[in-house]
Amino acid sequence: MEELSTTDFMAKLVALCKRRGIIFQSSDLYGGINGFWDYGPNGVPLKRAVEQAWWKNMVEDRDNVEGLDSTIICHPEVWRASGHIEQFSDTMTDCLECKKRYRVDQLEQPGVCPSCGSTKLTEPREFNLMMKTFVGPVFDEEHAAYLRAETCQPIFVDFNLVRIATRQKLPFGIAQTGKAFRNEINPRFFTFRSREFTQMEMEFFCRDSESMEWFEYWRQERWNFYTQTLGIPENKLRLHWHEKLAHYAKAAVDIEFEFPFGWSEIEGIHHRGTWDMSRHCEFSRQEQDCKVFDQDTKESFFPTVVETSCGLDRICLMLLCNAYDEDTAETKKLDQDEDLRVVLRLPARYAPVQIAVLPLSKKLEAPAIEVRKGLQQKYRTAYDDSGSIGKRYRRQDEIGTPFCVTYDFDSQQDQAVTVRDRDSMSQERIPISELDAFLATKI
Ligand code: ATP
Repeated sequence: MEELSTTDFMAKLVALCKRRGIIFQSSDLYGGINGFWDYGPNGVPLKRAVEQAWWKNMVEDRDNVEGLDSTIICHPEVWRASGHIEQFSDTMTDCLECKKRYRVDQLEQPGVCPSCGSTKLTEPREFNLMMKTFVGPVFDEEHAAYLRAETCQPIFVDFNLVRIATRQKLPFGIAQTGKAFRNEINPRFFTFRSREFTQMEMEFFCRDSESMEWFEYWRQERWNFYTQTLGIPENKLRLHWHEKLAHYAKAAVDIEFEFPFGWSEIEGIHHRGTWDMSRHCEFSRQEQDCKVFDQDTKESFFPTVVETSCGLDRICLMLLCNAYDEDTAETKKLDQDEDLRVVLRLPARYAPVQIAVLPLSKKLEAPAIEVRKGLQQKYRTAYDDSGSIGKRYRRQDEIGTPFCVTYDFDSQQDQAVTVRDRDSMSQERIPISELDAFLATKI
């Protein structure tokens, strides 16, 4: 693909996602709402496939991690204990000329508005990121509650209920996926910084003496998830170690991906010490629910926590950025006389449609649908009979469909179909009876 500027690349990706029903602005009909995104019919399968891969990898394939699905609204004390109500804020400044608002730590040149270049900026102010609502009929401070800013706090709160129900002993983890909300000052880079997003987090509870070993273990596991499970090339990923650590932490590292707009965080792996459990103990005064009992020393102690925390939307964006490609007539022999082919080279496991069945003519609808039925139970499939075959290939390329199966007039005689590969654009004749086995090796 030709080198594109960040702005051009992102504009093309955003346009493609809207055009093909992958991701578009929430409330588009009303002009959209900044920082909120909807996943369309071709975005949902991608998002679900990634979430399922994470859940399988982190929960189902392990005996020492349990699942949880907690509520978005928790008791307001949870957020006082976590420190979010007091401290979860960004320092921001307003430009007095163009009225735009920025996070002070994101200004490219300190004291200069990145939009209009003015130096007339307000004094930095703290801006809390928690989204507030009211529970019950009375809208006053006593009934105020918050949409969770991260999915991990309910894990700490439910720690003992899960431990008892599952009879787990340290070390073990609790994982959950779900929505989180942050009133981000400056939502940007498509879904990268949204105000409503999905997190996938796992809190691993262990003894302090073994916590750094577990930290190292999870750091490696999470790296492997990106390189092996998601197929992201190693050279597009890097580790960013935090130099400034929270007072309770022994280590913190981010996994970053090289987005078109620069290296940016997709996941944080954090040693959280005993901070969370001791804070919830202090605020709830339920010591027995926040500590574990040591049979040897006959003493209770707070478990130490190692956290893995990533954003599902950022991972989907990473996959889309990594998959976006354009073929030009010079570099590829195109199916038709078109000079540009937009293609999402998504791994088959995450492609919204894995196999598209295309009858060469509408007259072949019935047998083509039969072929699709044979594949539908096992794969995500689509059926498309409108427009020229070349146009249909283009549409499938744009949503990343790895295989198109064409049923033509010869198919009725030879009981075979043509399988077209998205990346090589090669076409192979495969007997219908062998189609499933052929595709199974590739998907
Ligand atoms: P950043 O510094 O980019 O704001 P963070 O350090 O505040 O991120 P965490 O609080 O550690 O992020 O959240 C864990 C993960 O949740 C991040 O690695 C990211 O993938 C995701 N995430 C956080 N904020 C957002 C957001 N506004 N939009 C989308 N995903 C987010």
